[in-house]
Amino acid sequence: AVVLGIESSCDETAVAVVDSDRRIIAQRIASQDAAHAPYGGVVPEIAARAHAEKLAPMIEGVLAESGIALPDFDAIAATAGPGLIGGVMVGLVSAKALAMASDVPLLAVNHLEGHALSPRLADAGIAFPYLLLLVSGGHCQILRVEGVGRYRRLATTIDDALGEAFDKTAKILGLGYPGGPAVERLAREGNAAAVPLPRPLAGSKEPHFSFAGLKSAVMRAHESGEHAVADIAASFQQAAMDCVVDRLEYSLARTDPVATLVVAGGVAANQAIRTALERLAERHDMRFSAPPLALCTDNAAMIAWAGLERLAAEGDAFRSDPLDLAARPRWPLDPEAEPVRGAGY
Ligand code: ATP
Ligand code: MG
Ligand code: FE
Repeated sequence: AVVLGIESSCDETAVAVVDSDRRIIAQRIASQDAAHAPYGGVVPEIAARAHAEKLAPMIEGVLAESGIALPDFDAIAATAGPGLIGGVMVGLVSAKALAMASDVPLLAVNHLEGHALSPRLADAGIAFPYLLLLVSGGHCQILRVEGVGRYRRLATTIDDALGEAFDKTAKILGLGYPGGPAVERLAREGNAAAVPLPRPLAGSKEPHFSFAGLKSAVMRAHESGEHAVADIAASFQQAAMDCVVDRLEYSLARTDPVATLVVAGGVAANQAIRTALERLAERHDMRFSAPPLALCTDNAAMIAWAGLERLAAEGDAFRSDPLDLAARPRWPLDPEAEPVRGAGY
């Protein structure tokens, strides 16, 4: 099977053609980093307009490069949420128009499901169930992935997401936007033990994450003028990593054993975090898998892949979505998960 994927939920406009043999036949990604950088974060209105300008010609280009005619696709998959609603609507409405014009099924994909299944696009050896650390700009969750469409949330953040913590730290330290890669780069030159920083919720009897207190501590450390910026970056990254490992240990101790630990989402691009997770997996005799960097941050190949997974999964309801389907700014992967205080869900 072959699927056209469209992603527009945040500040990447992306289009990809992927087949069930895990081949990315063609893809394009347009990042809006430069447009948002002056504001230090994503401006929803600017994002939506940029998606509207870029998307149609990108679809045209990717289709031409793939050499596959629209009616020959098995589905058109687009992110339908969660995310910035203006951007999501641009992608979803475009996909509906293409689906209608070519009589190909529409698949409305949850952006988080795209991240959650992305490791399987890169690595055919990952079988269900697996333990997933989903760490991105808007989310920080531990999920037990039982199968396509079956996600059990074991932990989430009660305040900031991990990517958000990296972005805010970068802003405090004057490293610009987007912050994750800049903090990681600078951290390599710093001493991770130089600045005493808290590990919020480490050792807690609840499973969740918290990063707001860490960010405030970073701000105080910076304002004190006592520390080199590289030392703060390195110490922040170490503290964040320690929290992640501690929370994963908690979840691992309380869930049925799984063979594989997987990380996905933009922060999965962080090499220090990948290494820490690899060691954790080794200690637990688990296999560890992380997608290549280009599949960690937002892309359309993971959306097309989530569509392919749905086509291959059991159950008819999975195979197409109605053309009157609404975009969803919020859309939890596990609808049964208990809400927690703060923004996390
Ligand atoms: P969500 O997926 O929750 O809707 P999003 O789509 O904006 O949010 P992603 O594109 O998956 O998020 O990830 C972007 C985030 O990843 C940003 O917060 C960015 O700072 C972070 N990030 C990217 N590269 C790195 C890195 N090397 N180290 C740490 N963080 C990183
Ligand atoms: Mg982005
Ligand atoms: Fe994302």
